[in-house]
Amino acid sequence: MNGKTDIIVVGGGPCGSFSALTAARLGAEVLVCEEHREIGVPKHCAGHLSIAGLERLGLRLPREVIENEIKGAVFHSPSGKEFVIRRDSPVTYVVNRELFDKHLSDLATKSGARYFLESRVKSFLFDSGFVVGVAVKKGRDEKSLASNVVIDAEGCSSTLLKKTGLQTLRGSMVVKAIQAEVDRVDEIDGDMVEVYLGRKYAPGFFAWIIPKRDASAKVGLATWAGDPREYLRRFMKNHPVASKKLRKSSITSLSLHPIPLGGPVPKTYSNGLLVVGDAASQVKPTTGGGVIVGLSCSKIAGEVAYEAVKNNDFSETFLSRYQSRWKELVGFDLMVMRQIRKLLNRLPDDKVDKIVDLCAKLGVDDVLEEVGDLDFQGRSLIPMIRHPTTLVTMLYFILSWLTSSSRPKCARG
Ligand SMILES: Cc1cc2nc3c(=O)[nH]c(=O)nc-3n(C[C@H](O)[C@H](O)[C@H](O)COP(=O)(O)OP(=O)(O)OC[C@H]3O[C@@H](n4cnc5c(N)ncnc54)[C@H](O)[C@@H]3O)c2cc1C
Repeated sequence: MNGKTDIIVVGGGPCGSFSALTAARLGAEVLVCEEHREIGVPKHCAGHLSIAGLERLGLRLPREVIENEIKGAVFHSPSGKEFVIRRDSPVTYVVNRELFDKHLSDLATKSGARYFLESRVKSFLFDSGFVVGVAVKKGRDEKSLASNVVIDAEGCSSTLLKKTGLQTLRGSMVVKAIQAEVDRVDEIDGDMVEVYLGRKYAPGFFAWIIPKRDASAKVGLATWAGDPREYLRRFMKNHPVASKKLRKSSITSLSLHPIPLGGPVPKTYSNGLLVVGDAASQVKPTTGGGVIVGLSCSKIAGEVAYEAVKNNDFSETFLSRYQSRWKELVGFDLMVMRQIRKLLNRLPDDKVDKIVDLCAKLGVDDVLEEVGDLDFQGRSLIPMIRHPTTLVTMLYFILSWLTSSSRPKCARG
């Protein structure tokens, strides 16, 4: 075993790099092990991030990372009704995830973190019930690296986590996502994302078209049932609205990746170990957005890991403050969003139609503009309930669910 590092991070995705950046900035010695040759490759994400969320994290992105600026969203109901939310100035960025991940790893490197690329962590090392390092494979070489704290940011596969005794993702609420980059999109507002609801095209989730500046777009969906490739083909070819916009498009790249929608795993720490990002299912169950929430939690993990090093205490009692802090920040929102996801999954298409219609007719967009927060959707609900328009819509939503006779038995959650 080589000399001991303060903190080893498994995974050079956004969450791993942000934990590394935070801890290195504070003064810890940090090593990141990433299995791929290059940070950010292969990419699998739409990169649709709230500007306010990035600002809260203190992240100013270089121009080349930003592929587009978005002012709102058009929601398409299963039968073709529309609900539009548009603001005067941009609220989200579409980022190039390869460049975004590289930007975060560059910041971490500049703060002193070291990266081992092409280095796959095969297992954690244990001693007296503590995680005390990792076993890494690089090419044919295998070596053991000792550390005081390991931060597991391995993403959705959670292969390593399975071996720790901590509970992993709720398998039944992991959806299979697919995303295509396409060219030559027609009849689309360049500063609006499009969301397509309905069981026929994306059961258990939704489909999206996210425009970039050059008439190209990211087109994707997720589903809990069947082959996502087949659903995407059907969406692009047959959807009555989307197919018209995509009729001249060809796919320039395609990726498949799961999204955990079940809310965070129950325990995200143990002796010598913290778990962050998709590995901990720190993802919004409503939209599948995991970057801003994951980064917010990863920042706390980096801080707590540094505090553990400073106090020379790597026990789970000490490290449990990580979970208390991230729960205080996003726990309520994720819990509410999980319940909303479960309700949404059970609503039949005709009720979704009526809700989209109600939102449009009652002017719910004005209320969302006033009080909505894309990252903290749970706490946004509280002021929204005070508005008669959203109250009516929510009551209808709950009543539809309660009276729905066609709750699919296989709907997840
Ligand atoms: C199709 C799709 C679209 C999405 N769109 C959005 C969106 O628009 N906005 C949003 O906020 N979120 C979106 N998400 C979710 C978002 O991509 C994730 O929440 C985010 O990438 C999580 O970051 P992470 O660092 O936890 O994991 P990852 O990004 O998965 O990074 C994990 C890293 O760990 C490495 N790794 C894994 N195991 C090992 C190992 N054993 N040893 C070494 N390295 C290892 C991997 O190679 C990878 O680099 C989307 C997801 C999908 C699938």
